[in-house]
Order: sequence, then structure tokens, then C-alpha cells
Amino acid sequence: MRHDVAIVGAGMAGASLAAALAPHLRVVLIEAEERPGYHATGRSAAFWQETYGGPDVQPLTAASGAWLEREGFLSPRGALYIARFGEEARLDALREEFAANGVLLEERDRAELDAAVPGLRGHWVAGLAEPSCRDIDVAGLHALYLRAAARDGAELRCDSLLLSARRDGGVWRIETRSGPIEADRLVNAAGAWADEVASLAGVRPIGIAPLRRTMVPLLVDPPAAATMPLVEEIGGSFYFKPEAGGRIWLSPHDESPSPPCDAAPEELDVAIAIDRLEQAVDWRIVRHERPWAGLRSFAPDRIPVYGPDPVVPGFFWFAGQGGFGIQTAPAAAQIGAALLLGGTLPESVRSIDAARYAPDRFGG
Ligand SMILES: Cc1cc2nc3c(=O)[nH]c(=O)nc-3n(C[C@H](O)[C@H](O)[C@H](O)COP(=O)(O)OP(=O)(O)OC[C@H]3O[C@@H](n4cnc5c(N)ncnc54)[C@H](O)[C@@H]3O)c2cc1C
Repeated sequence: MRHDVAIVGAGMAGASLAAALAPHLRVVLIEAEERPGYHATGRSAAFWQETYGGPDVQPLTAASGAWLEREGFLSPRGALYIARFGEEARLDALREEFAANGVLLEERDRAELDAAVPGLRGHWVAGLAEPSCRDIDVAGLHALYLRAAARDGAELRCDSLLLSARRDGGVWRIETRSGPIEADRLVNAAGAWADEVASLAGVRPIGIAPLRRTMVPLLVDPPAAATMPLVEEIGGSFYFKPEAGGRIWLSPHDESPSPPCDAAPEELDVAIAIDRLEQAVDWRIVRHERPWAGLRSFAPDRIPVYGPDPVVPGFFWFAGQGGFGIQTAPAAAQIGAALLLGGTLPESVRSIDAARYAPDRFGG
């Protein structure tokens, strides 16, 4: 059977787009792994935060938030940026950066920091709270998209690494490890492999760079209260958030360039994370649990890429979701589907300037 659209990659990007397209088009979702969600999607820190990713990403996060909240995928968390003595100006700069976007950011003094995060060391003197930050049920959201896509007839083919794609008479002839596929359009939702998939299809890569990010789960004493916010150092050198059983998930906020791969944590990054935590709080680390790492993939300007390739007809980019591909997925899928279906943007994303994310900004 010939498909209208073949989507490469069944992570959050491919699954959400498949769910949006399946009621209208014959969709096949091509996934290299045995199960979808094995790479970045299955390795996130699972939060939704409007300031994360910068002002150009915030409209996507905000537009996704209303739907995520309504459907029950978000739960209260709150975030707190913390600053050392002498770094208070960075908090002001963040506030100014988001002043036009209407994100509520509230100043916190030292006493308020103590109340929110008991055990903070003395050099943290000021903070900025972002009360709207939420936890996201990533697995639930991904599963919902896959179910919705399947219900509307999309076919998921796992174990189907794309090997090559050739456009011939207006049709993509795609070779995969599980056999050939034909489709009118080819969507690149391959995460860290986005440039590689473009090359396999004879399309010029954009320069989507995979950057490794490490997560370190720790059991701490005193146990982290479930009500503690996501705590982020204003200079971007670490963050941590509470998890079940008094644990925290800690990250050194690393961004190490990596080839696309099954990312694994480096011992040095884990050690750096723990050192930064110990400089931040007076907690005792009771147990190290198994760290993990994943690849966050960024376009050269760190803004996602949604839209048709400016040169090769029938090739559509849905890549560069960086560190915000979960929290922006609902809005991104609505935009991607509208562009592919040729309609106007639906109400939920109408105020977003979709041209901001078009691949032609990188030239032809
Ligand atoms: C440690 C960490 C923390 C994060 N925290 C957050 C967070 O708190 N909030 C948030 O919103 N985002 C977060 N992110 C970012 C988020 O996880 C990603 O933006 C998102 O998962 C990207 O989804 P994706 O579908 O583009 O990529 P992926 O999930 O990587 O999916 C791409 C898929 O394409 C498949 N593929 C690749 N090449 C081929 C091929 N040739 N043939 C067939 N299939 C192929 C891969 O197997 C893979 O399954 C985090 C990421 C990391 C690593």
C-alpha cells in the first residue's frame, strides 16, 4: 500500500504528528528500535516550564500547556531559579527576557529560599520563582499519541531502520530494515538522527546537533520533600527536582556534543553533578542510583524546525526539539499537521508565527 505520509521516528515528535495526521491521511510511522520512545523521549526530566528554551520556544510551550493541563498530563511542581551573591542581575535579566511573554516570575529572598529548599548553603542569596512550572507524564502522553494514531489507522513499524529514500515520479521509495515502503511525503522526526536521515534521502542537512545531557537520581537525607520545586542555578550549571521516595533527579546541565547514538552517562559528568549539588545544599547522599543520559538535538539557532524542505519537494522537517520537545509537542504537532494538510492553523496555535520555525531560514 502506498502511504500519504511516512514519518521517520516514533518518539514524541513522530508520535504526536502521526496522531494529528492520521484522521486525514494514510500514515506510516517508521521506527528503528524495537519499541518507540527508547531515545530522547524516554530519557527526559519530565517538566513543563515556560522559560525553558527561551522566548522563541515559549509560545509553543504556552499553547501546549492548556491542552496538557486539561487532559491531565501536568501536575504541580513550581520552579525556583537561585543566584549566588553578585549574580542577582542574572535573575533580573531573565525576568526582562520574558516580560513581553507574560510569564509570571516572582522574586524570592533568602528566607523564602530556605522555606522552599531547606538545606541551601549560605551563598545563595536570591531567587526567582516560576510558579506555573509543572511535571509532565511523558510516558502517558507518548502512549496517548501512539494509541490515537493507531485508532485512526496509522501503521507503526518498529525494527525498521530507514536505510535510504529516493524520490521517483513524485513518490518516496523508502528502504527499511523491515522492507520497502512508498509514500508521497517523507517527514523527518528522527531526533538526534535528523541530519543523517536527511542525507539518506538526498536532502542537505541543516546542522542539527545532538548534545548529551546527564541525569543522576540520588536518595538524599533529609529526603527531598515532594512539594519542593524544580531548583535551577541561574547560570545553568545544575538543576534538580524531587522524585518519589525522597529522591532527587539531578543534572549538571551538560551539553556535550555527541554523534547520534544510544547515549550513556560519562562518569565525569556524574561526578560534576554531585560536586555541584554538594556545593549547593548540605544534604547527605544516601544512595546513588543508576544515572542515564540522552541526546537533546538543536538546530544552529536552538529553535525547532518545522516545515517543508526549501529545495527537495515532499520532504518535511520536524526536528530540533532540543530540551523542550515534550512540553511543546501538542502545539508543534498542530502546526506540523496544518502545514502538511495545507489548512490554516487551528485556534489553539493561531497566535503563533509558524514561519519562525520554517527550515528555509537556513537557506536553500
Ligand atoms: C536528559 C534529558 C532531559 C530532558 N528533559 C526534558 C523536559 O523536562 N521537558 C521537555 O519538554 N523535554 C525534555 N527533554 C527533551 C525531549 O526529551 C526531546 O526534545 C524529545 O524527546 C525529542 O523527541 P523526538 O521524537 O524528536 O526524539 P526521539 O525521542 O529521540 O525520537 C527519535 C526517534 O527516531 C528514530 N530514528 C532515528 N533514525 C532513524 C532511522 N534511520 N530509521 C528509523 N527510525 C529512526 C529513533 O530510534 C528515535 O526513536 C529532555 C531530554 C533529555 C535527553
